Amino acid sequence: KTKTLEERVKSVIRDVQDFPKPGILFKDITPILLHPSLLQEMITAMADQFKDVKVDAVAGIESRGYLFGVLLAQKLQVPFIMIRKEGKLPAKTIKESYDLEYGSATIEVHEDAIAEGSHVLIHDDLLATGGTAVAAAKLIQQKGNVAGFSFVIDLTFLEGSKKLKEIQPIIKSLIT
Ligand code: AMP
Repeated sequence: KTKTLEERVKSVIRDVQDFPKPGILFKDITPILLHPSLLQEMITAMADQFKDVKVDAVAGIESRGYLFGVLLAQKLQVPFIMIRKEGKLPAKTIKESYDLEYGSATIEVHEDAIAEGSHVLIHDDLLATGGTAVAAAKLIQQKGNVAGFSFVIDLTFLEGSKKLKEIQPIIKSLIT
């Protein structure tokens, strides 16, 4: 019996226990990048999830969100926007701060990267609690609209999508 795309992606992702700290089961997506044909299939499937959605651009969250995000944008033939941690982008930016388990963080984007009123698909490799994606959404909403959320992995037991659906209910992941 041939394996589904979901099964094949799951078999390539590596679980690393207690990284970056005790109690965390880290989902290491780097082995996916060693399989170019699998990666290509994934991008096709992820683009297909948004075929009926108005997407003017894809915004990827630093840094693993860039790996698939830029390919997804290319597949959808729309611009790719880099959401970065504070202090990395050289030109004029808009910012959004959010709370972490300990302390807070700020993300930013070049002001001219988001077209006024455009529909931006937010992409990251993994949805955990949803805190990062909510901050990305608030950042995008300073100039545009959130078209949807795209992830490779949704850790559903953390219920991050509950937070996201109040912003935009179109939330897709390749695997859960
Ligand atoms: P959160 O804001 O809690 O949804 O966390 C999502 C962000 O943290 C994403 O950028 C993920 O890449 C990263 N992340 C959180 N938990 C994990 C995990 N178990 N394995 C790999 N990356 C994770």
